[in-house]
Amino acid sequence: MTALSAMAQPVDGLEAARREALHFINGAFTKGQTGKSWENRSPLDNSVIGLVHEGGEAEVDAAVRAAHDALKGDWGRMTVEQRTTLLGAVADEINNRFDEFLEAECLDTGKPMGLARHIDIPRGAANFKMFADVIKTIPTEAFESATPDGAGALNYSLRKPRGVIAVVCPWNLPLLLMTWKVGPALACGNTVVVKPSEETPLTATLLGEVMNKVGVPKGVYNVVHGFGPESAGAYLTGHPLVDGVTFTGETRTGEAIMRAASSGMRPVSLELGGKNPALVFADCDMDKAIEGTMRSVFANCGQVCLGTERVYVERPIFDEFVARLKAGAEALTLGHPTDKATNLGPLISQEHRDKVLSYYKLAVEEGATVVTGGGVPEMPGAMADGAWVQPTIWTGLSDDARVVREEIFGPCCHIRPFDTEEEAVALANDTQYGLACSVWTENLSRAHRVSAQMDVGLCWVNSWFLRDLRTPFGGSKQSGIGREGGVHSLEFYTELSNVCIKL
Ligand code: NAD
Repeated sequence: MTALSAMAQPVDGLEAARREALHFINGAFTKGQTGKSWENRSPLDNSVIGLVHEGGEAEVDAAVRAAHDALKGDWGRMTVEQRTTLLGAVADEINNRFDEFLEAECLDTGKPMGLARHIDIPRGAANFKMFADVIKTIPTEAFESATPDGAGALNYSLRKPRGVIAVVCPWNLPLLLMTWKVGPALACGNTVVVKPSEETPLTATLLGEVMNKVGVPKGVYNVVHGFGPESAGAYLTGHPLVDGVTFTGETRTGEAIMRAASSGMRPVSLELGGKNPALVFADCDMDKAIEGTMRSVFANCGQVCLGTERVYVERPIFDEFVARLKAGAEALTLGHPTDKATNLGPLISQEHRDKVLSYYKLAVEEGATVVTGGGVPEMPGAMADGAWVQPTIWTGLSDDARVVREEIFGPCCHIRPFDTEEEAVALANDTQYGLACSVWTENLSRAHRVSAQMDVGLCWVNSWFLRDLRTPFGGSKQSGIGREGGVHSLEFYTELSNVCIKL
């Protein structure tokens, strides 16, 4: 038992976690000993949701040591069958407490409940089941080798857990993206220390209760709240007993994390930013292209790493496309997450709103035509103090405008016409990022031809965010290192060890 877990306090359900989000270390909830906390504020109206305790070096050290020790305890001795059965129970318990997780996610993010009900929470549970299935069925390799004496040798590989995994998460899809890492990490037999985003502490905290309820051994899943530099994030990624760091967030943060992980030669898995294009050809099905682009630009208030911020439309259909996307944007309903009519929530925070609004201003300075939006909507009552922005569309910017080149992470896009397929491909690839794109065409040959030329980790044709969790997910160029999903996650979460037997 660590010094910190001795200070454990009982926590029970969302109401307690909401009032006071505690660290979860070695199977127990604790305030830690920094004496520091911050106010978790609602993006809806800037009201205080509750307090979050900030972890420091001692909390991170206790969590990492608990995770390190757990590798050698009951967890480390479990069979794959026992481990995956427990992960199935974790998924079931998330589903049993579905409404609590849903409320927690919507409290932190302000996103529409309809969205979180269909995406965030079900995927949070599914991530445990899917990777449990993968690890049960994945084979390793064997080679028979010839030797000069004729007797030969047999080589085979063993797949071992990497060890203690640091999991550093963003705020846009908190439970979904966290479990996308914790699911495979635990399926492979690792232990984890999670540092949730400072904006969204609640679902990671609730997951601690789930782990205890279903009997996941102490120290396997740990959570330390805090910020990045000179706080829990930096202490965690720099801790010498961490064996690998998996991170989703901004590219610049990814660089800092890579530097931290380089000390001690720890591997990294990085899912970073994007400036994703959509290519809309004149031979597309316009209804499908509009419906898909509406989602890819505005879903989750534009705060999806895979979201579209650059739309390139073939000239003959440019005017019609712009007019229809404008009509769609103006028909969006901004509102409270619980209101069934709501399909656009606020941004995550006042700070992020300042950033997005600075790009709205910059777009005008850079010469954009504002097709719609560009400002702050009038919201009723207390929501007037929330982090709301208008859904926004621009045209007329040059290809080197900052608004066209930098990730904004808001409900906005720039639309530009093109004349040839070659030009469209060149424009789409003219970016430091390489995460995702969408191609809209009914021409099968063009679909294959263009997809093959996209410098991205994920290329959708006539769709967006259609995910099969077995497929490789990740970015090229400055959008990341490594691939997650299905068997691809195992490259990071396991070490292959070759055994060579001279016969
Ligand atoms: P962020 O980089 O600001 O923060 C992410 C996490 O890193 C937070 O928990 C933060 O506290 C922590 N952190 C910050 N500095 C740190 C440091 N020096 N050391 C250790 N930890 C540190 O990102 P965000 O604003 O939370 O999320 C938005 C970004 O995430 C966007 O750029 C978006 O594109 C990206 N994103 C990428 C994907 C993907 O799969 N590629 C998915 C979602 C979000």
